[in-house]
Amino acid sequence: MTEAVNEDLSTFTTFRLGGPAEHVTIAEIREELLDFCHAHPLELTGDDRSDVLFIGGGSNLLISDDGFDGAVCVVRTTGVTTTETTSTDTQVTAEAGEDWDAFVAHTLDLGLSGLEALSGIPGSVGATPIQNVGAYGTEVGELITSVEVFDRVAGQIRRLSAVELEFGYRTSALKRAQAAVGTPQFVVLSVTFDLQHSELSLPVRYAQLASALDVEIGTRVAAALVRDSVIALRRSKGMVLDGDDHDSWSAGSFFTNPIVDDPEILPAEAPRYPVTDPLSGAKIEGKTKTSAAWLIEHAGFAKGFSIGDGHAALSNKHTLALTNRGHARTADVIDLARTVVDGVADAFGITLEPEPTFIGCSLDR
Ligand SMILES: Cc1cc2nc3c(=O)[nH]c(=O)nc-3n(C[C@H](O)[C@H](O)[C@H](O)COP(=O)(O)OP(=O)(O)OC[C@H]3O[C@@H](n4cnc5c(N)ncnc54)[C@H](O)[C@@H]3O)c2cc1C
Repeated sequence: MTEAVNEDLSTFTTFRLGGPAEHVTIAEIREELLDFCHAHPLELTGDDRSDVLFIGGGSNLLISDDGFDGAVCVVRTTGVTTTETTSTDTQVTAEAGEDWDAFVAHTLDLGLSGLEALSGIPGSVGATPIQNVGAYGTEVGELITSVEVFDRVAGQIRRLSAVELEFGYRTSALKRAQAAVGTPQFVVLSVTFDLQHSELSLPVRYAQLASALDVEIGTRVAAALVRDSVIALRRSKGMVLDGDDHDSWSAGSFFTNPIVDDPEILPAEAPRYPVTDPLSGAKIEGKTKTSAAWLIEHAGFAKGFSIGDGHAALSNKHTLALTNRGHARTADVIDLARTVVDGVADAFGITLEPEPTFIGCSLDR
């Protein structure tokens, strides 16, 4: 376990933003993470609950320039185990602090397919169920069988099934519980996935990926090929971390794709996608998803758009990513985000919702 005092939280986030924290614990083994959890129970009856912050890879966090006035735990626990369940499937369990992309690569090396389309996403395994991480037609919620958590209210370890996790588009019961209380009730200790013994990918579902692979939607190809194609596509959009590429100094997509009940409110040319249930894959009737990137572009914000001194700007490669050009402060990102939200609302009457977790800051005025 490493303890640090007066640490600058910008060193722990991919935005490279965030002010100081008086006390930071880096938990490298499970016992250290559990010790921290036991030392910081959560009482739902108290008023001040925002005194604990858990950080994985810091790739979905926007932390205030004022920093965090409480205890911070950086989760770096490691370990992967496999259990053969059937002749076709293997359950793989990873500790929360495992690096997500290294874990995906490891599963493919073991001859297990399922996670290939989620290659190249930054961050830790433990954070993936929180917002039901997704990309190129796959969401982790489809492949997670259970998550082991420490319940800070009950003070004990629990295992939550996929059903209990109530995955939705970029959300889960874990994220909703955190939003309701203002601090995580459930600390993810490990995540268990059900993966297939196969060299072949899941059927390719995403048009741009199918086109890059030169196959029809629904085709299964070598999982390793899907991984390579996804990483190449992501790199072309600044969606793979690269210290030399300011377009990747971000939290990835800053806004979620809006879901509307009435597709008639969308401009005629706006993209329309079905919304599906992560567990069954079935289409959810009466819900339509559109593209936040399309709305931003058509509201007049081009790639590279910035305001003021330009320290924060839309990525030059992807309209949906807000980026730190090197000298930004969190306040610059907030100003830029508000400008984009206002512009899209004025143009289309739709309010964009941010995807990252905000700590000590918000888009509210
Ligand atoms: C370049 C780039 C590309 C991205 N592309 C995608 C993408 O394609 N799809 C996608 O869905 N996301 C994407 N993201 C967002 C991000 O990578 C994912 O959300 C990722 O899962 C966050 O993991 P993390 O470990 O960095 O979480 P953090 O940013 O450290 O934390 C995120 C939230 O989870 C909480 N948390 C972290 N670990 C734990 C734990 N063990 N227990 C309880 N709470 C915890 C934190 O408190 C915080 O609320 C991208 C980000 C970047 C920078």
